[in-house]
Amino acid sequence: MVPSFDNTETAFAYKSSKQLKNARLLLNSMHYPWLVALGTRLTPFVLKTGLPVKNLIRKTIFNQFVGGETLEETKEVCNTLASYNVQVILDYGVEGKENEESFDHAAEEFINVINYASSQPGIPFISIKVTAIARFGFLETMNSAPRLRSGIHDHEDEMEEQDRVYDRMYRICEAAAEKNVGVLVDAEESWIQDPVDKLVIDMMSIFNKEKPVVYNTIQLYRHDRLQFLKMSHRIARQKQFKMAVKLVRGAYMEKERKYAADNGNPSPIQPDKESTDRDYNTAVQYCMENISDIALIVASHNEESCMLAAQLLIDKGLPHNHHHVHFSQLYGMSDNITFNLAKDGYSVSKYLPFGPINEVIPYLMRRAQENTSVSGQTGRELSLINKELKRRKIS
Ligand SMILES: Cc1cc2nc3c(=O)[nH]c(=O)nc-3n(C[C@H](O)[C@H](O)[C@H](O)COP(=O)(O)OP(=O)(O)OC[C@H]3O[C@@H](n4cnc5c(N)ncnc54)[C@H](O)[C@@H]3O)c2cc1C
Repeated sequence: MVPSFDNTETAFAYKSSKQLKNARLLLNSMHYPWLVALGTRLTPFVLKTGLPVKNLIRKTIFNQFVGGETLEETKEVCNTLASYNVQVILDYGVEGKENEESFDHAAEEFINVINYASSQPGIPFISIKVTAIARFGFLETMNSAPRLRSGIHDHEDEMEEQDRVYDRMYRICEAAAEKNVGVLVDAEESWIQDPVDKLVIDMMSIFNKEKPVVYNTIQLYRHDRLQFLKMSHRIARQKQFKMAVKLVRGAYMEKERKYAADNGNPSPIQPDKESTDRDYNTAVQYCMENISDIALIVASHNEESCMLAAQLLIDKGLPHNHHHVHFSQLYGMSDNITFNLAKDGYSVSKYLPFGPINEVIPYLMRRAQENTSVSGQTGRELSLINKELKRRKIS
């Protein structure tokens, strides 16, 4: 049966009416772009001054989008989700650190998260960012210099830096393979993405021989990525490993356009939303057509794309919870998709970040901006919450 995403009783069964009203208040405040812009600018600064705003952040945007400050604190959310057959992608949400010590520390944290995930039911994946274990500037250099992209270096220090990044990534993927936990590598800005892709494909070729362990992320808001998906698949076939992908539209659209304009480059972003949607759905179709050798995560809040993937499973006579097809939405968004898919037996998760408030601010800022700029999405969330509150006879 094709799922319906309109059932708000299923979607919000895990939330009390008080929690729903808080979510409504927060989403309503995100309707004001000037408020989000002001908050985005001021929050990192205010946190640094030591003013007592942490509690306010914790009770509002943090609670809506983040699982807790520590791994242990995520337990409550994970247990609640598990009781509705919703799984979890755990995300240690630290971003933007720029020294070797913090990269080593992040690699150890990722391995801790893998060990933790393997000890809990319902956490089949963790997510990582290569920028948590590698210097952004180094990735930028690797991306822009063809000499370096070929893997040949004439600077001893860069070779050593590359070895250290490779070693961290290898240890994370090795631990994941041992513990049977999938590692989803996030896609980031296009001007560092080539070396990230290369690293992930290297890891896939080592650890995905038998089953999918390492997943790359493909951003279909880039006009070159559908072709990249097909090329990656070809490489996987040639090298005989399982291709594993998380399909997303992409989270850095405005930043990408500005970077391209500032540098006099053509924008890597699709000309319009329709083109992004078309490529996203074509990518879903391509993966489903090759589902015996591609493992797919439909990471989206777009109802049409999620419906398409569910429909294709049905059309092909495959089980809803086919071991190569998984759906995921961010924690705090699109519960109507997640919980209705879970109720119909599909394999689905919430992407759940955790970390100290100061550290997850960049993630929270992206969520705030996304909920402002994707006006349709916030409107949809709000109307579903209002519908459910009305059903519960609460104003
Ligand atoms: C589980 C999960 C993991 C994620 N991981 C990543 C990740 O690793 N890297 C990453 O970058 N993002 C990631 N995202 C975020 C994702 O890229 C999107 O920003 C977000 O999910 C919104 O897209 P959507 O598919 O839900 O659908 P929709 O709400 O239908 O689409 C909104 C998206 O469409 C695109 N878009 C909007 N307007 C235009 C336009 N005018 N022209 C062209 N394109 C347009 C943008 O990408 C925008 O975010 C992840 C999302 C999820 C759910």
